[in-house]
Amino acid sequence: MPGTTLVWLRHDLRLADNPALVAAGRRGGPVVPVVVWAPEEEGDWAPGGASRWWLHRSLAALAADLEARGSRLVLRRGPTLAALRELAAETGAEAVLWNRRYEPAAIARDAAVKEALRADGLVAGSANAALLVEPWTIATRAGAPFQVFTPFWKAVLAAGAPPEPEPAPATLPRPDAWPVSLPLDALALDPTIDWDAGLRATWTPGEAGAHVRLARVLDGILDGYRARRDRPDVDGTTRLSPHLHHGEIGPRQVWHAVADAVAAGASASSAEKLLAELGWREFSYHLLYHVPRTPLEPLRERFAAFPWADDPAGLVAWQRGRTGYPIVDAGMRQLWQTGWLHNRVRMIVASFLVKDLLLPWQEGARWFWDTLVDADLAANTQGWQWTAGCGADAAPYFRVFNPVLQGRKFDPDGAYVRRYVPELAGLDASRIHAPWEAPAADLRAAGVELGATYPGRVVDHGEARTRALAALAEVSEPG
Ligand code: FAD
Repeated sequence: MPGTTLVWLRHDLRLADNPALVAAGRRGGPVVPVVVWAPEEEGDWAPGGASRWWLHRSLAALAADLEARGSRLVLRRGPTLAALRELAAETGAEAVLWNRRYEPAAIARDAAVKEALRADGLVAGSANAALLVEPWTIATRAGAPFQVFTPFWKAVLAAGAPPEPEPAPATLPRPDAWPVSLPLDALALDPTIDWDAGLRATWTPGEAGAHVRLARVLDGILDGYRARRDRPDVDGTTRLSPHLHHGEIGPRQVWHAVADAVAAGASASSAEKLLAELGWREFSYHLLYHVPRTPLEPLRERFAAFPWADDPAGLVAWQRGRTGYPIVDAGMRQLWQTGWLHNRVRMIVASFLVKDLLLPWQEGARWFWDTLVDADLAANTQGWQWTAGCGADAAPYFRVFNPVLQGRKFDPDGAYVRRYVPELAGLDASRIHAPWEAPAADLRAAGVELGATYPGRVVDHGEARTRALAALAEVSEPG
């Protein structure tokens, strides 16, 4: 009888398309799925509050799915190596298998775990569940990592379709006796104060929830994706990001589902655009892997000398959605209430923090890290550096988003602002994105008193833009 295999699960909280689980099944012996909670091993980036909220529910869903297949989820606390060693000793395991992670602290930890387990005489191995292409498998013609998205994505597409995802195992062989598991509540992931009503109303964490959402995408969202993806006032994007981050669904599964939908007549143009967004996710991982200092430091080193402002009050106004710019405030309140933010609005609020308030992008990345249910070190780092103009393939710094024009263009009826900034709901679409320009009578009729019912602007955008461009001149390339 082959020996027991531990499957160490992390950002791969699913049963289908899970190569470590498939490899464990092939070994033939009992399989013990295990999650080790070890936030202190994540370097500067232990999961934030919203991520923990999600993880709690995702683990509950995974445990139930495993039980439905005659298996269980064993929960332990870190340090990871000690926990895995203990479990291996308790179960007599001969192998420990897992799917790879790509964050710098995780890479270092995983390498140390692999070496130590092998030194113990165990089989220890990893596979790819999270990416279409792993960062070391493609390079520019010169053999260097990519720094520009379009050639990167061309190279990924040239490699052909990713492998077909494997189905979930029908059953998982169980050990004679199950090792003890901590109860989920012992990990203290769920908030003790009740701030999560909006998250509960918005999301269904877990593999089944991810597939319900994918089905909705295929049946209604995909066809209009290219036209509607920039509109925060409609349900026009996949909202799969938290499911992808926690690995409740993998990019190979999304890829093949979208390709099948196109074969069945869905819009090829929208599908191409959606797959390219998955491409940005891949590009983020490529950059993080090859330039692991970027979560804290600008990719373009000249930006390290950028003359940031010191403005704690501005930071708090931004965090609370009280900047006086309706589209910015709607975004920051959507983030707080639901743990998620539409991509267009992520760009708008990030630009506002960095360029209008002149506050360091790292402050914004930190806030997103704690409040997003999809907080992802690769995508968050790349998104902030892109907006700040200091990352790979970044928006030029001098392109400063005008929050009024962005609001009018992408929330033309004001429905998004009305939803998250209800104190402005009485203003009509022509006024709602710049209430300070509205005639006094319109404000009165809408019950809006600037500086009282809704904040006055923390900065004047025109002046802030001039200030940002002057600051940029200090770090621009000479000549
Ligand atoms: P869709 O438009 O449906 O896209 C499908 C999938 O592609 C997404 O689920 C996501 O996995 C991936 N994707 C889409 N756009 C990007 C992108 N620009 N970069 C990387 N991957 C992308 N995304 C995160 O997953 N986690 C983050 O922490 C994160 N932080 C960001 C911070 C800033 C400042 C910015 C500008 C963007 C950030 N993004 C982040 C990227 C993007 O905003 C989200 O992935 C997207 O809004 C998620 O919504 P969706 O699933 O409906 O996306």
